[in-house]
Amino acid sequence: MKITFYGTRGSIPVADPDYFQFGGNTSCILVTFSSGRIAILDAGTGIRKLGNDLLKNSHEQYDNISIILSHTHWDHIQGFPYFEPAYDPRRNFTISICGKERRGKDLKSIFATQMENDFFPVPLEKMGANFTFLQPDITAYENQWGIKFVASKHSHRGDAYGYRIEEGGKTLVYCTDVEHKHGIDPNVVALSRNADLLIHDAQYTPEEIKMKKGWGHSSWVQAIEVAEQAGAKKLALFHHDPDHNDAFLSKMEKECQKRYPRAFLAREGGQVAL
Ligand SMILES: [Zn+2]
Ligand SMILES: [Zn+2]
Repeated sequence: MKITFYGTRGSIPVADPDYFQFGGNTSCILVTFSSGRIAILDAGTGIRKLGNDLLKNSHEQYDNISIILSHTHWDHIQGFPYFEPAYDPRRNFTISICGKERRGKDLKSIFATQMENDFFPVPLEKMGANFTFLQPDITAYENQWGIKFVASKHSHRGDAYGYRIEEGGKTLVYCTDVEHKHGIDPNVVALSRNADLLIHDAQYTPEEIKMKKGWGHSSWVQAIEVAEQAGAKKLALFHHDPDHNDAFLSKMEKECQKRYPRAFLAREGGQVAL
């Protein structure tokens, strides 16, 4: 399994020159399985370049490509209207949030709303590709390609889901937009158990998070605590605050690595092979 970070920023994209090292695009990750099949985690602004790269590389997976969402806050869906492969009528996408007890509107209407004429010139139904919107009420399944999948709800305004993806004895856990309200959430630790790579929200410093209770995110110390308790082999700190520039994040990464040498800050364009 190979993981490529296309968007690592939280909340809102940033285009300032002192943000190039860690990247300014919002949440989007490409997962490439050993068969060459792909899945996409979240559709933040990073999905624009991801789509362009797929077309540039003549990536020809026309049957189902999964776009799996942690939740539908704007920074996790706003790149979708600029995802070029979704304008190709030969392609089929399943856009899903998996997991139990999801509240709120149905997923298709959320995607259609952000493309209504008040917000965007092309409506969802004119994009061209075939879309299936799913909100399966499941916590675990294995697909026909032997990829195991576990979903777990965690605390975030409107709810968000973390995912554990296993293929060929390797495990990726993606857990962003998570607030550990009453100590470290044991469900997040269970989901992350022995992960080869844990990608975890680390929007705030330990000082900042004291002022941001209820904002739905973690500090880098909490991310490390999850990794330590779960025995994760590598930790990618993710969903960088839009007010943290490269100099700030480089310093933060050094502090993180003093405490947990296997931690690093996710960088846009960075890859991890498991
Ligand atoms: Zn977010
Ligand atoms: Zn969110």
